[in-house]
Amino acid sequence: MDEFTLIERIRSRVATRPDVMLGIGDDAALLTMPTGQMLAVSTDTLNEGVHFAATARCQDVGFKALAVSLSDLAAMAAEPAWATLSLSLPIADAEWLDGFFDGFLELAVQHRLSLVGGDTTCGPLSIGVTVHGFVPPGQALCRDAACVGDDIWVTGTLGDAAAGLALQRDPEALGEIGEDQRTWLLSRLHRPTPRLDFGLALRGLAHAAIDVSDGLLADLGHVLRASALGAELELGQLPTSEALSAAVDDDTRRWTLQTAGGDDYELCFTAPKDSEPTIRAAAESCALRLSCIGRIVSAPGLRLTVPTGRPWAPSRLGYQHFVDELT
Ligand code: ADP
Ligand code: MG
Repeated sequence: MDEFTLIERIRSRVATRPDVMLGIGDDAALLTMPTGQMLAVSTDTLNEGVHFAATARCQDVGFKALAVSLSDLAAMAAEPAWATLSLSLPIADAEWLDGFFDGFLELAVQHRLSLVGGDTTCGPLSIGVTVHGFVPPGQALCRDAACVGDDIWVTGTLGDAAAGLALQRDPEALGEIGEDQRTWLLSRLHRPTPRLDFGLALRGLAHAAIDVSDGLLADLGHVLRASALGAELELGQLPTSEALSAAVDDDTRRWTLQTAGGDDYELCFTAPKDSEPTIRAAAESCALRLSCIGRIVSAPGLRLTVPTGRPWAPSRLGYQHFVDELT
C-alpha cells in the first residue's frame, strides 16, 4: 500500500456526523460548532516500547489509543465529537491497519465520534490521537477547583492495569493466579474504559476532576498543586477488584499498585459533601462502582493512612517520562 491507498482505506471505514462539513480528504476538516459550547481539545501519544509492547494486538492498540484521549474528555466533563489521528508506521501493513481500526472504531462508534483527519508517515510505530469535545462555558471540571472539605472520589477499581502490566512482563510476577483473574487484569491494561457518561453526569456536581493515567498519587497531586490544597487518603477505602485482591494479598504491594500504578483511566474527582446522594445516584445510573477515598484539607501535601489509622509513606507516586525506566 502507498500512503494514499492507506488513507483511502481509513476513509472508507469512517462514519460521519452531521456537524462534519468536510472530513478526511482535503487539506483541513471543516466542522460546525454547536452554539453555546466551548471546544475541549486533548492529545495523547502511544509509542511502541513505551506505552504498549511490540507484541500487543493491533486491535487493542487501536482501542487504547482512542480510549486514553477520550478519558481526558471524560475528566473535563466534555462530550466527544471529533478526532484526528497521527500515524507513524514502520511498514504499510494492511492487516495491522485493519485490526487497528477494528479497535479504534469500536470505541468511536460507541461514543458517536467521527475521525475527521490526520497524518500518515513512515517511521517507528507511534500513534497520536487528538480528540475534540463540547462543554458549556463554566461547566468543565478543572484541576484547580478543589475546595477544603470536599470528598475525594474514584470510579471503578484501581491497580488492575498495573497488575496487568506486571503479568505482561512476567507471567509469573504475581505467583499462582486463576485464568479469569489474569484475563481481567490484562484486559484492564489493554482496553481501559473511558468514563464519559459519568463525566457528563458530574457537571454541576463535582469541583475538580482528573483521570488516573500515571498513578493515583501523581494525578491527585496535580489537583492538589493546582488547587493549592492537601488531602487525606484512607488506603482501606481504595476500590479493589476481586481479581486484584485474589492476585495480590500483601497489603503494601497491593497499595503500591493502586496508588502509583498507571493506566487505570478511572476518574478521580472532588465534590462537596452535600452532593453525595446525587453523585451516588449518577454512578448507579451509569452502573459504575464509586468509592470515597478521602478528603481535601487546607494543609498542602498528601497524608495516607492504613486501616488501623497508622500513617503510610508511599515509596513512589507514579510514572514519569524521562524519569522512570521501563523495567
Ligand atoms: P496534506 O499533505 O495536505 O497534509 P495528507 O496527504 O497528509 O494531506 O492527508 C490527506 C487527507 O487524509 C487529509 O484530509 C488528512 O486529514 C487525511 N489523513 C491522513 N492521514 C490520516 C490518518 N491517519 N487518519 C485520518 N485521516 C488522515
Ligand atoms: Mg498531512
